[in-house]
Amino acid sequence: MRDLYTQVIMDHYQRPRNRGELEDADLEEYLLNPLCGDEITVYAAFDGDSVADVKFSGRGCSISQASASMMTGRLMGKSREEAEAEISHFKAMMVGEEEFPEMEDLAALKGVIQYPSRIKCATLAWTAFQRGLGSKK
Ligand code: ZN
Repeated sequence: MRDLYTQVIMDHYQRPRNRGELEDADLEEYLLNPLCGDEITVYAAFDGDSVADVKFSGRGCSISQASASMMTGRLMGKSREEAEAEISHFKAMMVGEEEFPEMEDLAALKGVIQYPSRIKCATLAWTAFQRGLGSKK
């Protein structure tokens, strides 16, 4: 199982989904993880209430970049409310609070919980998006 999870993370790291910048984005948020030196900027365009496009740019460790790649796939097409719920679920999973209902690729990141110093790497893009949505937490 470990190897499979590592493969999923490396796949997203080496072939990131939705990597790039979005011009005239409705949401643009930069976040730095000083613990590891990871940098992420997330972009989103909304069509009414739903996320029509998501992209990310940045650099850093494989976990931070793979997690951002996975996040873009998860949030595409979601409403603001659904996106917020998705982010809260993911962050709860990363502090071991609850099982994420349909984890798919995200399950690969759950192993990171064992390395507390890396949890911020995994949640960086998600926190950036959450801030962009104007959430408090
Ligand atoms: Zn990192």
